Amino acid sequence: MDIRTLTFKGGTHPPHSKKATEKLQIEKANAPKVVAIPMQQHIGAPCEAIVAVGDEVKVGQKIGEPKGFVSAPIHSSVSGKVVAVEPRLYSGGSKVTCVVIESNMQDTIHESVIPKGKLEDLSADEIKTIIKEAGIVGMGGAAFPTHVKLAPPPGKQLDTVVLNGAECEPYLTADHRLMLEKPDDVVKGLSALMKALSVKKGYIGIETNKPDAIEAVFNAAKGVDGIEVVALKAKYPQGAEKQLINACTGREVPSGGLPADIGVVVSNVGTAAAIANAINTGMPLVERIVTITGKGVKEPKNLLVKIGTSFKEVIDQCGGFNGKPGKVIGGGPMMGIAQFSVDVPVIKGTSGILVLSEEEARLPKASNCIRCGKCVGVCPMNLMPMHLSANALADRFEQAETLHAMDCIECGSCSFVCPAKRPLVDSIRVAKREILEKRKKQQSK
Ligand code: SF4
Ligand code: SF4
Repeated sequence: MDIRTLTFKGGTHPPHSKKATEKLQIEKANAPKVVAIPMQQHIGAPCEAIVAVGDEVKVGQKIGEPKGFVSAPIHSSVSGKVVAVEPRLYSGGSKVTCVVIESNMQDTIHESVIPKGKLEDLSADEIKTIIKEAGIVGMGGAAFPTHVKLAPPPGKQLDTVVLNGAECEPYLTADHRLMLEKPDDVVKGLSALMKALSVKKGYIGIETNKPDAIEAVFNAAKGVDGIEVVALKAKYPQGAEKQLINACTGREVPSGGLPADIGVVVSNVGTAAAIANAINTGMPLVERIVTITGKGVKEPKNLLVKIGTSFKEVIDQCGGFNGKPGKVIGGGPMMGIAQFSVDVPVIKGTSGILVLSEEEARLPKASNCIRCGKCVGVCPMNLMPMHLSANALADRFEQAETLHAMDCIECGSCSFVCPAKRPLVDSIRVAKREILEKRKKQQSK
């Protein structure tokens, strides 16, 4: 294989902690008896439920209609009867309207689910429509609606699609297994994105700690015009949008800018496979691969889970908790969201369920900053985390804004390396929220 190995400036090296699941094949999760499907699973406007209590639904049937351009439709993952439409807690940490469906365990497919034909016969607009109607969003965790990325603002000339197969978050192996087991879908999805955008160049960036995935995707991409597989140094946060673009293309997204400003669209390998599936089978995004792992779970696994299945049910299929859990996180340890309850559903962006033991979850006590500068050295955005954090903790949000707090990608590298265990990323996150609030208020004046 003739493959370049690239990376970005900054970053850190948390333990990979992927051994428990990286060699485990994806298994189909048991069919859930009940699913609770949130009408907000993406960045942007929530959907409006278009089914009511008592309605019969089928797999792939649209049950949530987007209420805005930045939004994505939501479909049923089971066939059965709607038993509730009500606010419920979801893994984002708040309550959102959920359509609760009791499955009839038949998995009857809705009539609208039909194969869309060969990729070479589809026009760019037809591909965009398929992606939009299938409710496809970024599956790396961000859940940004993919069709919105395919409609760049006027004046932006796109020439490159970069697919994120880095999976730099410790513990997670869902993307790794997908690339090994379905490399053709990953490549087909990238080809579909390139055709939809009329661009000629596509990269698939994969960290070097997954040599088998690099080989599988490289072989699948052989002979496909314009697609290059790039080996990326295993370093955190290699999969962050700006760092990934920089490593693959050498281009830099300007401060406060977007990838489209430098001609690039970034998507995830899971998203690409979901696009290929929507074209091949017509099935919208109704299930996803989830890594269930951590010392707090008995039998770690990579499971293909229907959207709306509860975390509890999924954890039970992995043998349940291994002793008293210390913390349950939706996603990985660096950027995931700690959960208050396991009675929350798996959604389109749930890449992992990480169960930490009590010992792993114990937080070290923070002490005073010793001005070692380590946080500055690892920040991939060239920020000064200790100053940002000090201003945030003293409610000096304007100073934090001047120090480019909004450029922080919340990767957590600074907190990870800090010997004083300062709450750096948490405090910067608060500052970002305050700055955004202030901007919103100014706009509404
Ligand atoms: S300041 Fe933000 S971008 Fe920089 S290391 Fe910390 S969390 Fe990551
Ligand atoms: S890494 Fe921690 S102790 Fe060192 S300068 Fe940054 S905040 Fe201070």
